[in-house]
Formats: sequence, structure tokens, C-alpha cells
Amino acid sequence: MLDFDGFMGYTQRIGFLPKYMNINGVGSMTIESIHYKRPILKKGYTDRLLDIDLSNNSISIRDITPVMRRMFVGGRGYCLKLVFDGTNATTRYDSEDNVLAFAGGPFCGESGFAGTGKFIVGAISPLTNTFCDSNVGGYFFPLVKQAGFDAISITGRSDKDVIIFIDGEQGIVRIMDAPETETSLFEAESLVEQWKGDGKPSSVAFVTAGIGGENTFFGCVNSVYYDVRRKRCRAKQAGRGGLGTVMRAKGLWGIVVKYDMSKGNSNKPVDRARVREAGKKIRNIIRTVDPKSMRLSKQGTTSLLDMMNSNQLLPVRNYQYGSDEREKEVSGAIFENKVFEQKYPDGCFVGCTLSCTKGCEKYTLKTGPLAGETVAVDGPEYETAATITNLDIFDIDCMLEYAWYCDEYGMDTISTGVVMSFLFEAYERGLLTKEDTEGMELKWDSPETVLTLLHQMAKGAPGFPTEAGRGLRHMKYWVAKRIAAKNGHPAERILKDLEQFGMECKGLEFSMYITKESLAQQGGYGFALKGPQHDESWLIGIDQLNNELPTFEKKAEALRWFPLFRTWFNIVGLCKLPWIDVRHPDAAKTDDPSKNLPTIQECYLELVNATFGTQKTLEDLLNESERCYILHKLFNLRQGFGTRAHDAIPLRAMAPVFINEFKSRKKYYEKYIQDVIKIETASMSDEAMLAALQDFRIKQYEELTDKVYEAKGFDQNSIPFDETLERLGMKEQVYSDIVRSARDRVKGDSGFIKEN
Ligand code: SF4
Repeated sequence: MLDFDGFMGYTQRIGFLPKYMNINGVGSMTIESIHYKRPILKKGYTDRLLDIDLSNNSISIRDITPVMRRMFVGGRGYCLKLVFDGTNATTRYDSEDNVLAFAGGPFCGESGFAGTGKFIVGAISPLTNTFCDSNVGGYFFPLVKQAGFDAISITGRSDKDVIIFIDGEQGIVRIMDAPETETSLFEAESLVEQWKGDGKPSSVAFVTAGIGGENTFFGCVNSVYYDVRRKRCRAKQAGRGGLGTVMRAKGLWGIVVKYDMSKGNSNKPVDRARVREAGKKIRNIIRTVDPKSMRLSKQGTTSLLDMMNSNQLLPVRNYQYGSDEREKEVSGAIFENKVFEQKYPDGCFVGCTLSCTKGCEKYTLKTGPLAGETVAVDGPEYETAATITNLDIFDIDCMLEYAWYCDEYGMDTISTGVVMSFLFEAYERGLLTKEDTEGMELKWDSPETVLTLLHQMAKGAPGFPTEAGRGLRHMKYWVAKRIAAKNGHPAERILKDLEQFGMECKGLEFSMYITKESLAQQGGYGFALKGPQHDESWLIGIDQLNNELPTFEKKAEALRWFPLFRTWFNIVGLCKLPWIDVRHPDAAKTDDPSKNLPTIQECYLELVNATFGTQKTLEDLLNESERCYILHKLFNLRQGFGTRAHDAIPLRAMAPVFINEFKSRKKYYEKYIQDVIKIETASMSDEAMLAALQDFRIKQYEELTDKVYEAKGFDQNSIPFDETLERLGMKEQVYSDIVRSARDRVKGDSGFIKEN
């Protein structure tokens, strides 16, 4: 029987286990379990879905149909389809029917190529109220795939904390009591020690959330694996959109997988030698290019700190400023030489010579519940370090402490920091006082204040910290109501002012780039389907630093092409960095160097065709991505969002908001107004120049919006044309119904964005 939703319904329930199981010495109560027969992995697929309902503790295994595979490929595509089918327009993040989905992709776990440990976590988000996905690396999903599953779907809600234990060696899936530990990462090694039984520590990996996920709306999912060289557990994060909050709302402490990779039968491509050859090529490109360019293999993504700072792109004081001379105290070179342990390569999965997963091996915590303990810190990544510069702090210890605690609490470093920076600016401008903040003085350049607020938010301290934990969109409304209560002005009008510098779109906080001078990146954030996260379109370097998108047409085309190709990485289980951050030496000779077409041709298309035995072209890959991309667009529309009003970005993403920002770069802006806007400035006041600049930038964004919608096959309200759906083979009634009702809705759309 073939369901159209892409799954064949059947459960392999071969036998039951006794209720009390001493799993490898853990001694946890088994609540439910099934045996299963591990399928044979072929051409990167097992074609099995593990489906668990925590409300009734049911475990089932379903076949993934060829239709599902052809239409939605894997990874983000599978997560989207699972969540779309399992939910409806009224589902919220904590609803029982919300689906928390995990999926790799056909190349996830391919050890012969670089960047193959990636998988996707997706669900309806507490921040955006629609689908959000986040990608993360590590060994978890490669092991899940070897254990027999291309995707995991979790529905329902358990009334006590549980774990799901997938034992791929014995072919058993169990739902069990969660470990009795207050921490999520601090005791990771001892948990792995218990779970591994007689096996190696590296045969165990797990995903988990933390108390920060329970007490805030931006909980992340930690992907934990054992690093055999460093002899410790490491954690990578699916950070964006509150997916750890969804996990905690389901009563799910974590999912553990056990499988010895050395017993694995690889990804079973059609032509293994050809895959290895493609892998060798990409590794050679990385080895030749990276040391002379971004140095990711030595500095991790902290190498971006210098690049962003020297180009006015590093957020400082809630994105007001883009550069600060104190950056030299936290530069990539300092991380490379003084903070990161360089003894071993740092790939987040085997085969990645880009090795950007850097870490500090010994750091003694100064604050919080574990003050005095010496821990190993993974990262910080650029994004985490930049949330700290955005709080006006240039202090490596603060970056390490913040990174470690955010991971331990299971909180997205970006959202946490951006909520804080908005509140700090509101405080600086006198919009908030100590009366509003439980007596806390929100001062810039104060590690103590930032870390205190972090600990309070994580533990859900009543009042201000708990409110802050509900995200930036909520806080804009909260601050507006507090001010309105004090001065009697209408809250809606105050909100309009706060929206100018409250850096969120669609309910998600901006990631860490100043976009005022890059129209393409403004679109990269504004049109991103899940909200302003750079993994859909990271165009700032291409547009602003390299000036490779000089016209509206080029920018619009880039805003069509890059989200599609970047989506492809997320549906197949690959990391984008070896493609986008390491340019093939021949890319410069092509018409469009930013697309890095030689690497696509020589490495990625080789990987695809050698794995599947096909003759696919780049256009074929883009078509597969576009179907998933459009499904996400339809998802947003079904949930009541996704129209033009929801692609609006804060004024600060386009231009300076306040006169102090303008004055900090007055010379540059004055010249810009003369040369680009063509206004003579001699008799203009600073305020008049600022107003002219703002007006011009808003109009530019609107003009770009028109062009991008056209390029994407959307009407001017951001709704896909019928022909777009037809071209992609998305002819089902459910999709056309969504489009029709969105068109009706938009007729009465006031453009006012409600609090989610
Ligand atoms: S480039 Fe970095 S994040 Fe990507 S797979 Fe390699 S080590 Fe992991």
C-alpha cells in the first residue's frame, strides 16, 4: 500500500523486551521497545523512517517510498514533509501533534568525501510559529543511518523525561527513563561510558537539549559525539529556531544511538572509487586554498572576526556599529595561537580536512552553577564571538564562558545575545529602567551583567529574565506595553519605533552581520524562509567585499540561485563550507566566481553521479532543491505567514536609525548621498542627510523585493504562481488550496505583524 504522504505503513514488531533493562550498566527502566532488522544501506539510503509517538510510547518503522525520495530527497526535504504532513495551521511548538524531525541525507556519513556529518532538525518553532530547521554536524546521524534509518519523527508528549535508545548493533529501539542528571553536556563522557557497554566510546553519539530549552523559546539541540583524539565528548549545535525547546516540550531528554562505525558498510555508492577520487579532489583544494585564505582549519570561523571588523560588518552595540579597535584583542590570530588546541585535526566528522571545529581544551569557569570547574569549550564559532562584540565586549574569557554555558544550558548563542543587545540598547536610550529589569543595570561592556542575565534566563528566574527568554519579538511588545503604561502613549506607536532597531524578522533574531551596506544581504535575511539566518543566503562577502553583484538583476539572480543551491546541501546531508568558503583556484576564471562552479563540477556532481549511477546536472540539483524550498514557502503560508509583509526587515538592517550611528560614519555616508543618491549635501543638516539615506534605502529594498519575487516565480505578495507549482510537479490539491487561501487573505492584509 502506497500512501501519498510518502510512507508505507507497517511496524516491525518482532518481539518485546522485559520492562526493566540494565542497558549496558545504565540500569534505566525501559518503557517500550521493539526489535528490528537492520536494512541494507544502498546508494546512501536505508529508506526507513523511525516513527515514535511519546504520548502513547508507540515505536514503529515505516518504509520511505520512492515517491518521497524522488520529490524530497532527504535531510531538510524529509523534515519539511514529515512536519508538514503531521501538523496543521493551528499546531504550535508545544502541541502534541508538532513533529520533531531529524534527517540526514544520501551523503550523510559518506566517509570518502569532506563535510558529510551534517543532518537537519526541524519542527514548528516557538519563535516563528512555522517550520524552522537547523543543520548540525557530528557523528549522530551517520550512526543513525548505519543503524538503519534515514529519518526520525517524534510526535506526542511524554509526561516524564525519557530517552530514545537506538541500538543499531542489536537491532533494538527503546523508550527509556531519562538519566538522572542536572546537566546536559558536563557529564557527557560518563553517560557515553555507560551507554557504550563493551563497545568503543566512539560507537555512541546522542542529541539532547538542556534546561535553557525548557525555560526559553530558543533552546538548541546539542549533537554530542566522542572525539577519539581528544578523548572527550564534543558538541555541535542545531542552534536556530528553538528546536531544543520543542524537544523539552515533548519530555524528550535525548536520543542515543549506538553503532560501531568500523562495522559499517559505508554509504554503498554505485562507484566507490569514483566517490573517493572526488573526495581526494576536494580535500586537495582545501589543503591548497584554505591556509592562504580563510584559515578555517586553524582559526575555525573566528577567522571571520578580522574580516568583518575591517569591513564595517562586525556587529557592535546591537548592530549600531560595524567595527571597533578592540577587535585586535579577540582576533582570529589570538584564537589560533593562544586559545585553540592545534595538536589534532578538528573535523566534525571523518574525512573533513577543513577541520573548522576548533576548541579550547582547558578553561576554568568563573560564574554560574559550575564556577571553579575546568571544562573544555567547543568553539566559540564566529557567530557566538560576535554576539559578545554586539554587547560591546571584547574579552576572550567572556566569549568562552558564554559559549560553554549556552551549550550546556542548550540555548542558541545568537538569539540569546541578540535579545540581550536589544534590551541593552533600550536601557541605554532610557526606554527601560531598573524598575523593569528586576534591578539589573543593563550596561554595555559588562561581562558580569551578560553572564548573570544568561544564568537567570536559563533557569527561568521569574519576571524580566523569563520574559526575555521568550524572544525578541515578544520583548518588543513587552517593552512597548511597559512604556505605554508609564507615559500613556499608544503601545502600537511605540512598537513602530522599537521595530526599527529590534533585529528580528519572522520572529527569529538576526545572525551576526551588519547589512546596512549590502542590499543583497538585506534580501538574504529578509527573504530567508525561516527568518534571518545566513545559511540560506550568505551574500555579504560576495556583494559587499568582492562587489560581484553590482546590479539589481545580479542581486536578484543571486537571491534566487544561492538559496536553492544552499538548500541542496541541507537536503543531501553536506556541509557548505568546503564549497562556499574555499574557492577552487579556477573559479576566478569563470563568469561567476562566487558560485565556485569548478568545485561543483569536479567534486559535487562527481559525488552525486558516482553515488547514484546517474548523469545529473547542476540544473537537476537545483530543481530538487526548489521543490523543498517551495514546500517551505507553502508551509509558511499555511501557518498564516509568508506574504510580503513578513519579508520586511528592521530599518537598522538597511540604514543607521539614530543620529549617533550616522555620525560614526558621517564622511562615508555624506559621500554616498552625493555619489549614489545624487543629492547635494552642502546645505543639509545631519538629520536631513540621515532621513534622505533612510528613505533611499527603504525604496531600494522594495525595488529589490519586486525583482526577487519575479525571479523566484512569486507574485508581488510573495505567493508562488500556479505555474511555479506545476513546473515542480507539485500538483496536489493541498498545495493549490494553500496558495488560493493566501491570495484571499492578502487582500485584507494590513501589513501589521502580530506578536507570534
Ligand atoms: S567544514 Fe567544519 S563544520 Fe563543515 S564538516 Fe568540516 S569540520 Fe564540520
